[in-house]
Amino acid sequence: MLKVLDNAVPVACWACSVSHTPSTLFCPHCSKIQPPIGGNYFSIFGLVPRLDLDLGMLEHEFHKLSRKLHPDRYARATTNEKDWSLADTALLNDAYRTLKDPIHRTEYLLKLSGAQIGEQHAGKDSDGARKDPSRVPADLLEEVFELNMQLEEMRAARKSGVTDPELQMSLSAAKRKFDGLMDEVDQDLRAQWTVWDEGDEGARAAAQRTMVALLDRRRYLANLVRDVTETLGA
Ligand SMILES: [Zn+2]
Repeated sequence: MLKVLDNAVPVACWACSVSHTPSTLFCPHCSKIQPPIGGNYFSIFGLVPRLDLDLGMLEHEFHKLSRKLHPDRYARATTNEKDWSLADTALLNDAYRTLKDPIHRTEYLLKLSGAQIGEQHAGKDSDGARKDPSRVPADLLEEVFELNMQLEEMRAARKSGVTDPELQMSLSAAKRKFDGLMDEVDQDLRAQWTVWDEGDEGARAAAQRTMVALLDRRRYLANLVRDVTETLGA
């Protein structure tokens, strides 16, 4: 199973000493605020880790917890509680930002279950990644080669103050194509969510590998779209 998800060791509440899960921001027993000590983003919201999330419920819980953590409520509390209200708020904001975004949520949950997802596959240095043929998705080799030439041409044209409407149109078309391919990746990812959420261990492992590959492809496409957008000066 998911080792990282399961090994959250219960901690004792500082106020009432009753044990609870480490990612609860408030003690389930005495309701006192707890320090931000770990666990995972899902359990902060009382959610079981899954990819197909009820976003309405997530937002509702976020606002509820935000209100409960508001510093005004701790004006007369201990220094620790004051500090925790700020630290818990920061943690809650990070958790919400990550979980509400479908791609960030997928990356987060896959990492949590031990998958290696990294910039190293697609390259933070997009130029390097784009020009290294071994990193180009096989079905895009020809198009990326063509695109690189057009981008060079476009940069040269801009430098010398020349407008080339044909080149501009061709780059815009390329951008639309890559945007479309990204939409396809997103649809494929969503299909894998269900497999991961509902499947047994084997199905889940296979879905995980597929999603890691899809995320690599998505990051690659996102870099291409960004390069084209920047070069077009949109
Ligand atoms: Zn307590």
